[in-house]
Amino acid sequence: MRLEQVECDLTVIGGGLAGVCAAIAAARQGRTVALVQNRPVLGGNSSSEVRVWVCGATAHGLNRYARETGIMGELFVENQYRNPEGNPYLWDLVVLEAVNAEKNITLYLNTDVHEVEAQGSREERTIKSVTGWMMGAERRITFKSPMYIDCTGDGLIGFLAGADFMIGREARSQFQEEWAPEVADGITLGSTMLFYTKDTGKPVRFLPPSFSKDITATSIPIRRVIQSGDSGCHYWWIEWGGEHDTVHDNEMIRDELASVIYGIWDYIKNSGQFDADNLTLEWVGSLPGKREYRRFTGDYVLNQNDIVAQREFEDGVAFGGWSIDLHPPQGMYAEASGSKHLQPDGIYHIPFRSLYSANVSNMLMAGRDISASHVAFGTTRVMATCAAIGEAAGIGAALAIQYGLTPRQLYQEKLAELRQTLLRADASIIGLRSTDERDAARQAKVTASSVQTRLAVEQPGDACPLAGDVALLLPVNPRLDGIEFLLDAAVATELIVELWDTGRKENYIPHDLIGERKVSVAAGSRQWVGVDIRWEPDEPQNAFVIIKANPSLSLYHSTEPLSGVLIFFRNEDSDKNPDLGDYSPDQLVTRWGMRRMARQPFCFRTGEPTNAYQADHVTNGYHRPYGGPQQWMSLPMKEGKPEWLRLDWEMEQSLSEIHLTFNDDVNDDLINLHHHVTPFRIIPELVSRYRLEYLNGNGEWTKVVHEAENRKRKVIHRLEQLVKTKALRLLVEATSGSRTSEVIEIRAYGPDTD
Ligand SMILES: Cc1cc2nc3c(=O)[nH]c(=O)nc-3n(C[C@H](O)[C@H](O)[C@H](O)COP(=O)(O)OP(=O)(O)OC[C@H]3O[C@@H](n4cnc5c(N)ncnc54)[C@H](O)[C@@H]3O)c2cc1C
Repeated sequence: MRLEQVECDLTVIGGGLAGVCAAIAAARQGRTVALVQNRPVLGGNSSSEVRVWVCGATAHGLNRYARETGIMGELFVENQYRNPEGNPYLWDLVVLEAVNAEKNITLYLNTDVHEVEAQGSREERTIKSVTGWMMGAERRITFKSPMYIDCTGDGLIGFLAGADFMIGREARSQFQEEWAPEVADGITLGSTMLFYTKDTGKPVRFLPPSFSKDITATSIPIRRVIQSGDSGCHYWWIEWGGEHDTVHDNEMIRDELASVIYGIWDYIKNSGQFDADNLTLEWVGSLPGKREYRRFTGDYVLNQNDIVAQREFEDGVAFGGWSIDLHPPQGMYAEASGSKHLQPDGIYHIPFRSLYSANVSNMLMAGRDISASHVAFGTTRVMATCAAIGEAAGIGAALAIQYGLTPRQLYQEKLAELRQTLLRADASIIGLRSTDERDAARQAKVTASSVQTRLAVEQPGDACPLAGDVALLLPVNPRLDGIEFLLDAAVATELIVELWDTGRKENYIPHDLIGERKVSVAAGSRQWVGVDIRWEPDEPQNAFVIIKANPSLSLYHSTEPLSGVLIFFRNEDSDKNPDLGDYSPDQLVTRWGMRRMARQPFCFRTGEPTNAYQADHVTNGYHRPYGGPQQWMSLPMKEGKPEWLRLDWEMEQSLSEIHLTFNDDVNDDLINLHHHVTPFRIIPELVSRYRLEYLNGNGEWTKVVHEAENRKRKVIHRLEQLVKTKALRLLVEATSGSRTSEVIEIRAYGPDTD
């Protein structure tokens, strides 16, 4: 065995999405990072070895404007461009390339960390080093650094270091959680292997192996198999091991899962219940994808009540939005639905205190092993949320190293800086405004070539009969002074409209009723009908306008979207399959569905000009929709005539770094693997071609950047030379399809920025 020692600022153990994002985040803060992964591929459960698709706060479109930004957002957007078909090997490449792009990261693949040197009392331990064995290379490597992040999922590093942890289900009384059992037990979610099938174009035989199970002789509900169809991607419920030890019994669990997969495939091929003659197995997982094991105890344990109440934490560093999604202990053998879901009214917040160990002073954790109760873990465990948590832990670790603090001291002494650093990195944090004093853009006067002041979409597409209640969400800034709808009326009738607020700025549900109007409508088609409904809220926010069902009326979808405007359809019944997922019908978010019509709002127009798209929104400190679109939007662009944004300062500025954040429609639910639904390789609103110019001492505009093929949301331009100027402008020459030019944020930094 070759013995080696590596010294760096930070060691991240585990190369799932949490570990990848933690490593990239810390590397971008200038820290040297060893990323140590025991398998040959990065991505953890999302990798081509396991093939779980990455879900996150959008909850597949249930939560609006909820897609993660920051590193996870970059991965989603890049994958959409390079891999819109959702090929798992190409996803592996997207993740690997993101790591390779960071010169501060040294990647150790195939390196299984299984020794930890730690010292100190049980209450106050410190990790001195971790040691791993590199498979196939006979290298034994010891990693030494002042800080470590356990992203192993199972939590082996913290366990060996003596970190306090929880496992199984806590009793209801521990965190007063409604969904917790009365009595604590050791049950976890089980593990799963998936499979892929393909059509060979000609009949192929399948002879089951000797170990496959006759699934008709098991308690697996056959209706569930029939409903899942012939694609292995729908068999996430082949889950087992929750009543065992998902780590120590891993081998036994794999064998059980394999016996059922081949048994199900035997049933699909040979029972005559499926049209499967030409189908063959293309890939079968061989590693059980693990859902749950240790959860470390931090200074705060996130629990069900925090999720449901969407509790705001002073140390909120990330958000999630997947439902609390718990599965029956017997897994695939359970008669009960494969999962049960509790969906809060919108996205929820995750505190930094849940991301570091309470008793190992130099250890953070990210991913499924964070400090959350079993019930709260039921939502934080999805991978885009694990990734957002990873970014927060990575930045937290980087700052702690920079200041020579423990993560707890960082929370106590540098919390504001931590959160502002996350914002500056475009991380998944919401409701927080930038107060970055080093950002000169915040002092500038912002003007634009044009501003969209009409709140209207008027190009009719398909008619939409008002078979059920529908709703339109629009920004109210500063007031709503009546609204008109384009509609057909088969007979003379009444249009009933309700105006609601959304409660919280990150929510997209009807919360408090503001007013209701009934309007007489004459028979006729394509008529604009005005509703005299008014609202001037204390501060700008969204209105949720419900248009009540009326079989005589049809609204028109628009052929063009408008950022900040959404539509909803009221679902009387959950469209989910109750055998697979048990969704409580009283959950507001699930009641108001969006279908895939988000980009085709109803034709409407308002009379009053809106301030929702003002130029100075690019420096208002918000980096994503929050009670309104929080962006600049120009009027439709004219061929060959760029739209521009201009920053003017009274005093000359020295600028070395410009940050641009473009609109990549965080409402669109980008999915990394199968089930791709987004039709665009690049989000249409993303600015594709632009120039940055500054005003030189002779009063001439001088170009410093010309980007011709942008497809990123956040771009950082480090200028080759220091620019001294009193004015800077961004000229948008083209977008990826949208007619308007849209920018969310501009930041400008001088050379004192590290
Ligand atoms: C079948 C299944 C279906 C699921 N469904 C979804 C879904 O649809 N969408 C979704 O987003 N989430 C889903 N989840 C949950 C999600 O996959 C996990 O919670 C998530 O992978 C956790 O991310 P992570 O980075 O913490 O851990 P992991 O993805 O488990 O990654 C941890 C990595 O660390 C490595 N590692 C472990 N120990 C060591 C060590 N000692 N040394 C070095 N490296 C180590 C592992 O090899 C692994 O690559 C599902 C999980 C399973 C199993």
